[in-house]
Parts: sequence; C-alpha cells; structure tokens
Amino acid sequence: MLVVMKAQATPEEIQAVCDHIELLGYRAHPMPGAQRTAIGITGNQGEADRGNLEELSGVAEVIRVSKAYKLASRDVKEEDTIIRFAGTDATIGGRGLAIVAGPCSIENRDQAFAIAGQVAASGAQFFRGGAYKPRTSPYAFQGLGLDGLIIMSEIREKFGLRIVTEALDNESLELVAEYADIIQIGARNMQNFSLLKKAGRLRKPVLLKRGLSATLEEFLMAAEYIMSEGNYEVILCERGVRTFADHARNTLDLSIVPAVQRVSHLPILVDPSHGTGKRDQVLPMARAAIAVGADGILVEVHHQPEKALSDGPQSIYPAQFARMMDEIEQIAPIVERSLPRGLHVDAGVTGVHDGRTK
Ligand code: PEP
Ligand code: MN
Repeated sequence: MLVVMKAQATPEEIQAVCDHIELLGYRAHPMPGAQRTAIGITGNQGEADRGNLEELSGVAEVIRVSKAYKLASRDVKEEDTIIRFAGTDATIGGRGLAIVAGPCSIENRDQAFAIAGQVAASGAQFFRGGAYKPRTSPYAFQGLGLDGLIIMSEIREKFGLRIVTEALDNESLELVAEYADIIQIGARNMQNFSLLKKAGRLRKPVLLKRGLSATLEEFLMAAEYIMSEGNYEVILCERGVRTFADHARNTLDLSIVPAVQRVSHLPILVDPSHGTGKRDQVLPMARAAIAVGADGILVEVHHQPEKALSDGPQSIYPAQFARMMDEIEQIAPIVERSLPRGLHVDAGVTGVHDGRTK
C-alpha cells in the first residue's frame, strides 16, 4: 500500500503519518518526490489494514500497489532515483553517465595503481576492483581481502575515484562497507537474502548484479529486499545471463534496460565484460548499452590482461577504454545524456575511507 501525501503536506504531517503506520505494526518508507512525498508501507503479509490513514492530515490518497516489488516500483516513486556521492559531483542515474572501470581483481598495489591512473586519465569517476572474489573454483585466486580494500582506499586518496567493490558474504560486508563508496553484490549472491537484508541496513549505495538466470521480477525483488530495510540507494547492473549461445560467456540482455526503466525508478548500469566474456565484444556492447539507455557502464580494464589473475580474456586495455570513453561521449547526446570526465572532490573528502564523508 502507498500513502500519497498532498503536495503542500508539511514534514510534521509526513512524520505523523509514518508514526501512525508504524503504530499499525507496519514499516513506513517516505519517498520524497519532485511534486509530493509518497510513503510506502511494507511488513504486511496480506492486504494492509488502511486504518484511518485516509483521514490523517496532509494525506491525498491511499492506494494499493499491485506489483510484488513496491519500493523499487514507479508506483511508489515516479521520478528516476539519482544517487549522489557526498563531497563530489558524481551521480548515478542523473543526466551524466556513470562509468565504473578497473580490474576484475586487485592483484597488488602496482597493478591496481597502474590501471587506476589510466582509467582516471580517461575520465572515469568510479574505480572497480575485487578484494573478495566469487570464483567457480576454490583453487582459483580468491582476492587479497583487506589488503585489497586498503589499496583501493589509497587509490581513492590519490586519484579521487570513488570505489566499487564486492562484498561476498555477511562476514565481510561491514569491512567492505567501511572502505567502499558502493558495495557490489555479485550475480551469484543476487538471491542471498540474508546478505541483501544486511546490506539494506547500511546507508551506502549497493550495486546489485543480476543473477545468472534471474527474471526481471526476481531482479527487482532482490532490490526490494535491500530497500525494505531502509536503504533506497540501489543501482541495478545487467551482466548477462546463461543461454545456449556459445559465442560469448553470457548473453548480455540489453532489453532488460528499457524493461526495468518502465517499471522501476532505480538506475541501471550494464557490464559488457561479464556480459560477453570476450574482449573484442566489449566495446560494441558498451556502445549498444549506452544507446539503449543505460545509466552507465561497468567494465573490466587491465594493463596486462594476459597476466591477470582473473577475467583476463574479457578485460580491455587502457587504450581501448580511452576509445570507449570517446565513443560513449559521442553517443550520449543522442540519448539526451552526457559523459562527465573526472569528478570534482571537495577538499578534505578524498582520503576518508570509513563512511564519515557520506
Ligand atoms: C565481477 O564484477 O568481477 C563479478 C564477479 O561479477 P558477477 O557477479 O557479475 O559475475
Ligand atoms: Mn570479473
């Protein structure tokens, strides 16, 4: 259920409605919009009891949300969610496209710095790198753990790039959240409900990757798990699904971008690296992703991909990344977007890695 407040409702009236909802035993999720605030109601098993919500001061109407996902849906919030990063001008979901680039794994300090320097020089605003890696084989490189997180915080300090890194499990989530600007939840964890809920209790943006065989509804329900706990800053990421096609590692399902945008206000990025698994397919699919209306790209870049400890064959060279940025810049205006190059970081913000800048 959804309580739509009148355009002129005061903060006190909104608070009173939230208190009333909680008194009924539900959870209230105020979602401020450009015109008015809507308050999502969750926590009800069946149809929620309307009580006398309609009579409360400042309430315009109480409506039923029929979709299984509620907080993620445009029924609750019509306008696109724009995620901001305190102390910087970077956004995800606004007019400016968000580019997240970096290696699959942080392998060592020199490797990470070499790549970060090059993606920063091309204008990326976000640096990705795995410190905890979900690997198919237990014998494959599992990531540097805390050392990897520390390297990334040094990269933020030196280059100003905002950091995206994966939390693999409940145990590492809080540590990752301390260092990351965006917490990635990987495809294999898209339905790890306890991890989703725990991430929902944090106040840090979460980049949620689509599961290997997830439907649109399952994907949005996973986002809903995070939002239902009060964290509304979810960034979706299409990274390809399993099909019978064998010319690529996965099939990058670009049609999910307009499908998501029709029903949800959440931003969606596209990952052409895991989506194809092949370096020569990454650039063409990145172009297509921007053309289809994605809010940005997450891409693996490595300066020596032949030596990479994970995902070398799909990692593009820094020079290819530079070209990708130029191409995206040219496509952007056609879809009424722009490509910001680099980001402005307020003095005193760069080096803090413990979330106090948020
Ligand atoms: C990654 O981004 O390196 C990764 C492991 O992605 P996914 O969860 O999409 O496989
Ligand atoms: Mn990878």
